[in-house]
Amino acid sequence: MRVVIASSEAVPFAKTGGLADVAGYLLEGLTRKGIKARLFMPLYKAVRDNFPDLKYTGVEIKVTVGNKMYSSRLFSYNDSAFFTECDVFFERQELYGSSSGDYRDNAERFIFFSKAVLQAVQALNLIPDVMHSNDWQTGLIPLYMRSIYKKHFSKTATLFTIHNLGYQGLFPYSVMPLTGLSNELFKPEGIEFYGSVNFLKAGILSSTAINTVSENYAQEILTSEYGFGLDGVLRKRRDDLFGILNGIDYSQWNPSKDNLIAKNYGTKDFSEGKALCKRHLLKQCGFKVERPLLGMIGRLSAQKGIDIFLSALEEIIFAGTNVVVLGKGDEAFEKAFEGFARKHRKNLLFWRGYDEALAHRVYAGSDVLLMPSRYEPCGLSQMIAMKYGTVPVARKTGGIKDTVEDYNPLKRKGTGFLFSDYTPNALRECLIRALCVYAEPLRWKRLILGGMKKDFSWDSSIQKYIALYESLRRRLKG
Ligand code: ADP
Repeated sequence: MRVVIASSEAVPFAKTGGLADVAGYLLEGLTRKGIKARLFMPLYKAVRDNFPDLKYTGVEIKVTVGNKMYSSRLFSYNDSAFFTECDVFFERQELYGSSSGDYRDNAERFIFFSKAVLQAVQALNLIPDVMHSNDWQTGLIPLYMRSIYKKHFSKTATLFTIHNLGYQGLFPYSVMPLTGLSNELFKPEGIEFYGSVNFLKAGILSSTAINTVSENYAQEILTSEYGFGLDGVLRKRRDDLFGILNGIDYSQWNPSKDNLIAKNYGTKDFSEGKALCKRHLLKQCGFKVERPLLGMIGRLSAQKGIDIFLSALEEIIFAGTNVVVLGKGDEAFEKAFEGFARKHRKNLLFWRGYDEALAHRVYAGSDVLLMPSRYEPCGLSQMIAMKYGTVPVARKTGGIKDTVEDYNPLKRKGTGFLFSDYTPNALRECLIRALCVYAEPLRWKRLILGGMKKDFSWDSSIQKYIALYESLRRRLKG
């Protein structure tokens, strides 16, 4: 079976979040299972800088966006990942925008990319059995395959994965002519959405099947609370909507082999290992007093529950904790953390930025990982944290609900602490519950061990994707 994964980011090439992990691991995992998988992504500046050995395929395509034509040379890496070049769109510092906002030409950039993928697979003779596109950036791909590129893809099924329904690729009506699609599609049953063009909706409506990245989130998005206005559209497609939990790449995230942390440890010797990693992290943070160390790693966006965390932060520190936050995102949140960090220098450190190596050290050195997400399609951080013996204190939503078991003190069972109400108070109370168990070292150790022993490896997710691809292919033939 031949599969093309179209994604706007993928590890190890370029990453802003979980989408990159999924796309990268999927490529690797499918290939390992004997599937002829290829990845297509834009040739960003970061890819060019970090992978100077990309091979020019010798193929150049011409892609129209509106009435402009762009030339795109196609590059490859190991003949499995392909990159569409277009410097006016992708030779930039960031992938989608800076902290002051999205790039203004994101519609053009991803119309270009969606068309480029479809033309590139033809030009390179790589037309797949299944075209797997991801999130709004590639939402137009299945629609193009049913419209302007129809005759080339009659034997290709499409899977569209929603990694985050909160980002829909909404653009003004003026973008319609740039898409090259019929104006007829600009209606509520089409890709119109409250007066805007919605790229994600295009993917939902026109692909053979849709999936999202945890079973619980696949149910949640059918409700108005989590549906971001698309719950009605999704309910219409509920028979074709699936949930497949993301996995973790344990070759990258494994405390027993991780050479970025101060000391390696496994399930048998985590006490010493974690203690040393914690001391190391405390030193790096400049914290003099040892207290329960709470870590938070992630995009600083409203999705991640930063508002309730900020409201609870001072009381969390006064409860006797040290806090380390690694992240970047909305300017207002960055400033708020900077302000608190100045005020509570002894117990709070804010690292503004994206830093893979530091993330490893925070996962290893923290006692608790905070994840008060408003919503969380899957969430990788809680799974990574558990592997590193770091106990999640998290909101019971999306994939967190599928992966973290709330601690039951009577049965002494569970892998973390969960709260439901989206309030600073609920977060605080949940953390207090965790700190009570932390104060009992034997119980805490058992809790840590339970989390470390959980298996969230990619293997079972990959099997599920393969089964889904097969069923789509059968559907197309039948
Ligand atoms: P999302 O995809 O919503 O950003 P996930 O939990 O699915 O959230 O994935 C986030 C991934 O990105 C994790 O691997 C996490 O460790 C990593 N990450 C997020 N922010 C940072 C950061 N500032 N520095 C390093 N790694 C980060």
